[in-house]
Amino acid sequence: MRGRAGPKWSGVKRLPLIQPQTSRRAFLTSTAVGALAIVPLAALACSKKLVCTDVSKLKADEQQARSAVGYKEPTPEPAKRCDNCAAYTPAAADQCGACSDVKGPIHPAGFCNIWRQKG
Ligand code: SF4
Repeated sequence: MRGRAGPKWSGVKRLPLIQPQTSRRAFLTSTAVGALAIVPLAALACSKKLVCTDVSKLKADEQQARSAVGYKEPTPEPAKRCDNCAAYTPAAADQCGACSDVKGPIHPAGFCNIWRQKG
């Protein structure tokens, strides 16, 4: 009788489960790529969250006045934003602010034609 027979898989060459340098590099690469993918998505989600265009609670003349000054968001002029305008009153970080001259919700990154530099 020849020696004890091993399990059927005994002839399979075992490979090391972890190859440290390759695994670390692969982990760091995948982590960096994952982080880079998440940041723009998070920024997009945040920027889409706040919308201040609902004027349904305003009277018709208030809506008309808002349109007359050309309120829009986001601003077409990056240096001129509601949050650096003298008429703007900020709210909580994820809330629409207010304006002393234009009724309705005001986006911090909004703009209108009567913008004036906050002093
Ligand atoms: S005046 Fe115009 S630019 Fe200034 S806060 Fe009001 S809506 Fe924004």
